[in-house]
Amino acid sequence: MIDEDLNKERLELALEAAGLDLWENDLVSGDVTHKAKKTFVELGYSEQEISTYIDDLFLLVHPDDVPVLKSAVAEHFSGITAQYRCEFRLRSKNGTWIWYANYGRIMEVGGSDRGRRFIGVTFNIDDRKRREDEIEQINRKLAEQNAQLESMNTSLQLLATTDSLTGLANRRKLMEVGTNECKRAKRFRHSLSLLIVDIDFFKQINDTWGHPIGDQVICMVADVCLNSTRKDLDVVARIGGEEFAIVLPQTDYANAYSLAEWLCKTVEAQRINVGNSDEWIASTVSIGVAALSDDAALLLQSDSALFELLMNKADKGLYKAKQSGRNCVFGAGAAAYLGQ
Ligand code: GH3
Ligand code: MG
Ligand code: MG
Repeated sequence: MIDEDLNKERLELALEAAGLDLWENDLVSGDVTHKAKKTFVELGYSEQEISTYIDDLFLLVHPDDVPVLKSAVAEHFSGITAQYRCEFRLRSKNGTWIWYANYGRIMEVGGSDRGRRFIGVTFNIDDRKRREDEIEQINRKLAEQNAQLESMNTSLQLLATTDSLTGLANRRKLMEVGTNECKRAKRFRHSLSLLIVDIDFFKQINDTWGHPIGDQVICMVADVCLNSTRKDLDVVARIGGEEFAIVLPQTDYANAYSLAEWLCKTVEAQRINVGNSDEWIASTVSIGVAALSDDAALLLQSDSALFELLMNKADKGLYKAKQSGRNCVFGAGAAAYLGQ
C-alpha cells in the first residue's frame, strides 16, 4: 500500500470513529469535490435525491437556520472567522428536523492548479441539542415555579402579618415592629410611645345592631387611626377584636397623649349608618398611653422585654380610662381627657 492510500485509510478510520462526514468544495471551479454522503444517507435519502441535495444543501436546511448558516459561511470567507462553525437543522426524508454541526475552513491546496478549497466535516448533534432543549425547558419551568413560590411566599407573609378585616398589621407584626423600634430608640436615644385603643361598649353594638355593623365600627376606628398617624413611620395594628395598638417612633409622651385625645374626639364624631334606615350610631374609644422613659435600668432590658413593658404600661392606662368612664385617655402620671 502506497503512503497516499495509507493516509486516506487513516483519515477514513478517524472520520468514521468520530462520526464525521467529510466535504470539500473547490472554490476555483465551484465543484463539490467530496460529498458528505453519510449525512444524507443518515437522513434517509436515496442516491438520486442525495445528488440533488448535495449540490443545494439549503433546500434541506430549516428556514430559521438559513440566515445563520449563510452568515457563518460569509464571515469565514471574508476572513472574520478563522474557522467556519455552524449548527443547523436538516430535514430528514420522513420530514423530521435533525440537528447537525459543520466545522471547516478554507485551505490553500498546493500549486495554482489545485487552488483554494473549502474543506470541513458535518456531524450529528441531535442528541446534544435535544438534551439542551430539555434542560432549557426544565430550567424555564423551574424559574416559573420559583416565581410562583416567591409570590406565594409574599402572599403568605402578608397573610401572616396582616389582619384580614381591616388590612392593618396584626399582633405578630406589632410585636416585631415594636421590638425593632425599641432597639432603634435605645440606639439613637429617640423617644418612643405606644397607644392602646379599645372601642367602648362594643359588645352592646354587636348585640344591638349585629356583627356586620360591629365590623363596620371596627373598620371606622381603624381608618381614623390610620388617617391620623404618619404613613411609613407609625404602625397601627389590630391586636384583638376591638382593640388596636399604635407604635409612635420619635414621639414623646406629651405628643402621644395629644394624638390620643385627637383620636377620641375624631372617633366620637363619626357616624355609622345602621341598615337602610336613616338611623346612625356613634361610638367612642378609650386609650392608654405609654412612652419609653430615659430610666437607665429600663434601657438595660432586652428590646422585646422593653416593648412588653411598654404594652403593659399602656394597658394599665387603658384600664384606668375604662374605669374613669370611657371615651378618655389615660397614661402614666397623666390627666385624663374626658370627651363631652
Ligand atoms: P369595654 O367598653 O369595657 O371595652 O366593653 P366591650 O363591650 O367593648 O368589651 P368586651 O371585651 O366585653 O367585648 C368585646 C366584643 O368584641 C366581644 C366580641 O364578641 C366582639 N368581637 C371580637 N372580635 C370581633 C369582630 O371581629 N367583629 C365583631 N363584630 N365583633 C367582635
Ligand atoms: Mg371594648
Ligand atoms: Mg377589648
